[in-house]
Amino acid sequence: MLEIDGSQGEGGGQILRTSLALSMITGTPFRLNNIRARRSRPGLQPQHQVCVETAADVCGAQLLGGKRGSGTLTFEPGPIQPGEYRIDIGTAGSTTLVLQTVLPALLMQPEPSLVQIDGGTHNDHAPPFDFLEKAFVPLLNRMGANVSVELQRYGFYPRGGGRIVARIGAAAPDSRLSRLDLTQRGEVREIRTRAIVSLLNRGIAEREVNRVARVLDLPKENCEVVEEKKSSSIGNVVLVEVRSEHVTEVFIGFGAVGVPAERVAQGAADEAKAYLDSEIPVGPHLADQLLLPMALGEGGRFLTQTVTEHTRTNADVIRMFLDVPIRFAEVDERQTLVEVG
Ligand code: ATP
Repeated sequence: MLEIDGSQGEGGGQILRTSLALSMITGTPFRLNNIRARRSRPGLQPQHQVCVETAADVCGAQLLGGKRGSGTLTFEPGPIQPGEYRIDIGTAGSTTLVLQTVLPALLMQPEPSLVQIDGGTHNDHAPPFDFLEKAFVPLLNRMGANVSVELQRYGFYPRGGGRIVARIGAAAPDSRLSRLDLTQRGEVREIRTRAIVSLLNRGIAEREVNRVARVLDLPKENCEVVEEKKSSSIGNVVLVEVRSEHVTEVFIGFGAVGVPAERVAQGAADEAKAYLDSEIPVGPHLADQLLLPMALGEGGRFLTQTVTEHTRTNADVIRMFLDVPIRFAEVDERQTLVEVG
C-alpha cells in the first residue's frame, strides 16, 4: 500500500486525481492523508468526492473514507471496466476535472467507453471545456488515443447544470500512447476569440470580443459571440484560441459581478499575448496535464515556460507510481525543457 502525503508540494486536488488515475492503471492500492491540506477549505469537496466515487466505480475499487470533507482515503483498485458512465456532480464542480481522473484509465482499453458528466463546464482553476477540446484532446489523439468530447450545455458557478460527453475509442491489444515531441510551436495559423453569455446581456460578450480583437489585432470574422439558451446557470466567459502548426493553446477570462467586461477580456488577451511573444509551444496548464499521458506511454519532451509548483508536484506523484524519469532542464530564465522517459 502506497502512503501518499496530500500536503506535499502544492498540496491540492491534483495529488488526489493523479493518484486515483495511476492507482487504477497500475493496480496499486494507496492511502492518501492530509487531502488538499494546503487549500483554504481542505479535505474532499463535492468535485473531489465525485472523482473518488467515479474512479471507484470504473475499477470496482474498495474504499475507506473518501466522504465529503474527509482528509483521508484508502483506495484499493480492481480491474478497469470500460463502458457507459453517467455522472452528476450535483453542484457546479468541474466536469473536466472528473474526466481528467478517469480518462487515462479508459483510454487504452480493448472496449470503448462513454462518459457523461453534469456540473460546471467553465470553472475557475480547472480546464475549460474548450481547452480540453482544442488543446489537450488533440494531443492525446496525436499520441494514438481515440477520444472525442462534446459540450451539450454550459454550466457555470454557482448553479452548474452543464453537461459534457466524452467518447473513448477502443485501443489495440498491448498498445501504448506514442512519444510526444513538442519543442516547437511552428507558424501561428489562426487566433480566434469567442465570448459566451448565459442569461446575461449580449452586449457584455460583444464588448469582450471587441477588446480581445483590439489587443491581438484580430479581424471581425475571428470574433464570435454565443448566447447560450439551454443552460439554467448565469455566466460569462471569454476565450482566446491560438492555433499554431504543432499545438493549440486556449486562454480564458471569467466574467464576474462588478468587473467591467473590458477588464475580463484584457486578462485573457494579455495571457494570449504573453504566450505569443514567448514563442514557447506549451503553456503552464498543458504542461502539468501532459505529464501523465506521456509517462504512461512512450514519453517524449516539450518546451514550456518556467515550471509551476503544480507541475512539479504532479511529477512527484507520478514518480511514486511509475518508474519513469521526469526531468526539468532550464534552458534560460524563460524556457524549460521537460523530458519524460
Ligand atoms: P483543488 O485543490 O481546489 O482541487 P487543484 O490544486 O487541483 O485545486 P489547480 O492547481 O488550480 O487545482 O488546477 C487543477 C487543474 O486544472 C490543473 O490540471 C490545471 O492545469 C488545470 N487548469 C487550471 N486552470 C486552467 C486553465 N485556465 N486552462 C487549462 N487548465 C487549467
